[in-house]
Amino acid sequence: MVTPSEHRYDIMQYRYCGKSGLKLPMISLGLWHNFGGVDSFEKGRRILHRAFDLGITHFDLANNYGPPPGSAEEVFGRILAGDFSGFRDEMVISTKAGYWMWSGPYGDGGSKKYLKASLDQSLKRLGLDYVDIFYSHRPDPETPMDETMEALAQAVQSGKALYAGISNYSPAQTQSAVKILDAMGIHCLVHQVKYNIFDREPEKELFDTLAQLGMGCTVFSPLAQGLLTSKYIRGIPPDSRASSPHGFLKTEDITLERVETAAKLNRIAQSRGQSLAQMALSWILRDQRVTSVITGVSRIEQLDDSIGALDSPDWTADELAEIEVLTNSGKNGQTELSVSF
Ligand code: NDP
Repeated sequence: MVTPSEHRYDIMQYRYCGKSGLKLPMISLGLWHNFGGVDSFEKGRRILHRAFDLGITHFDLANNYGPPPGSAEEVFGRILAGDFSGFRDEMVISTKAGYWMWSGPYGDGGSKKYLKASLDQSLKRLGLDYVDIFYSHRPDPETPMDETMEALAQAVQSGKALYAGISNYSPAQTQSAVKILDAMGIHCLVHQVKYNIFDREPEKELFDTLAQLGMGCTVFSPLAQGLLTSKYIRGIPPDSRASSPHGFLKTEDITLERVETAAKLNRIAQSRGQSLAQMALSWILRDQRVTSVITGVSRIEQLDDSIGALDSPDWTADELAEIEVLTNSGKNGQTELSVSF
């Protein structure tokens, strides 16, 4: 067991997750990359220790995180059982099911058969009786929405999850999902969505929908997988996600246009006394409809840097306008990443 810092709740700030009693740290840690069986266990362990010392209480997983799929839950479960064995009640642990996990007709999608089995497997890998949030990782067009929502409701009713969440649902799909869950007496706690300075889709409708429905919002890939940091401005570093064979960010995603925009954004960040990562995170968190940004890190120094986003200087209208012109005015051409999850 570790002895965490006694100051761990001094720096972090927490927001209520929509209209619920659950607070999440404004910065959460995601285990999509860097915590798989192919990664250094000790490095992952040190990152988790540091995260907890910084007041990060929310750890975001999914059945398929690794590689190999499932190994991030195993790694987290091992560290939880050892180092953090006395601290389960200070943590919010989330997992998901929806993308491919095992062969055959029952290891992918949104069926009750898949979601129930997957959650049971996740609990086993994590060594837990329950997760705090269980997400439907994506809407499945082949499965009736009622069935997927029934699976989430059963997860909650059986005590295997405390809260239900959805991810990657459109505003209309979100409305339907919430209506179905409401009818079963289950509040849909949270929507997990991709949002960052480059990818603005949720601004169009989803954020308003979530606010109207009293749902929280956890944001994934807030740094566009590293593109919204200064790391790619001078080329692709060998230890970066874009150069990793296991990473979901491909070298072709590091376009000249994006790198040039990142360099311009970096200048705005410098004039604010921030790193680009800090500015990109605080830019998201200025919107109160966002509960938490879920960032991934490959080393402790990144966590230490990103936590500085909580100490952001106030935004000026000029700075915000400049970011709009650079990234959301059509001048920059395509702003969405073409990466699929
Ligand atoms: P980010 O956009 O935060 O990208 C993380 C990467 O950015 C790191 O691996 C690192 O890259 C780089 N980085 C992070 N902080 C810094 C820093 N301060 N300075 C320099 N570089 C930095 O998030 P992810 O794309 O990793 O997604 C975060 C989480 O969101 C996932 O772990 C997962 O939990 C969740 N998620 C959910 C999805 C869904 O469908 N619901 C889909 C995708 C993610 P490098 O490795 O190159 O050092």
